[in-house]
Amino acid sequence: SVSIDGLHKSYGSLDVLKGISLEVGPGEVVCLIGPSGSGKSTLLRCVNLLETPQQGVIRIGDVEVTDPEVDIDAVRRRVGMVFQQFNLFPNMSVLGNLTVAQRKVLGRSEAEARKTAMLNLERVGLAEKAENAPAQLSGGQQQRVAIARALSMDPELMLFDEPTSALDPETVGDVLAIMRDLAKEGMTMLVVTHEMAFARDVADRVVFMDGGVVVEEGPAREVVGAPQHKRTQAFLSRVL
Ligand code: ATP
Ligand code: MG
Repeated sequence: SVSIDGLHKSYGSLDVLKGISLEVGPGEVVCLIGPSGSGKSTLLRCVNLLETPQQGVIRIGDVEVTDPEVDIDAVRRRVGMVFQQFNLFPNMSVLGNLTVAQRKVLGRSEAEARKTAMLNLERVGLAEKAENAPAQLSGGQQQRVAIARALSMDPELMLFDEPTSALDPETVGDVLAIMRDLAKEGMTMLVVTHEMAFARDVADRVVFMDGGVVVEEGPAREVVGAPQHKRTQAFLSRVL
């Protein structure tokens, strides 16, 4: 689970997050939607400490991420992140991409890391690509590898930042299907997405952010299907 309370983040004089509070319960899927520049990526980056917030408390499970004494590596081990740009290591095979952090960060043996990697490649339907280089895969396949790589670390929380925005339309569905399966299996997920059908059908709750604040949140069908706030309505009428 994740609990965010009163989060503030600014860059110089630019206030990006202005007191965000948000909960993702164990096994819950929350989709974060909102206009460009509203602070969605910044919020995700604060959760795994790619950014340091100025104020507020973030907890993942029982660990306070925002405690100045926290072990940053321990936090990042608990959190898998998937980005719009897949960020695979181009000079390693698919299998190498999945084993390197297991070995270096978790201290797993090569055999153990390979076993976990192959299980996760099977899970995303790409076991036969284990020896290929990332450049030999389509965008959608690379994103599925990136998801398998994150899962190989056995995270308790998965963060997704517009994982399908850089993909060709015909490969978007494969990636969303894997995310849907993960959700069904009970993974705790915080997902920034412009895929409103996914948000409506898969998320337990949807949070609409604008200008660094949470404007509206609630059950997915309500926020996407019958938004109460004018700013949410205006946003949805642009993206739907
Ligand atoms: P998008 O939908 O376009 O991805 P977003 O909601 O993810 O937008 P953020 O990337 O979180 O928005 O950015 C929020 C604001 O913070 C923007 O005005 C952006 O220019 C600013 N910002 C983000 N990162 C930095 C940074 N490292 N330094 C300065 N300003 C930043
Ligand atoms: Mg963003």
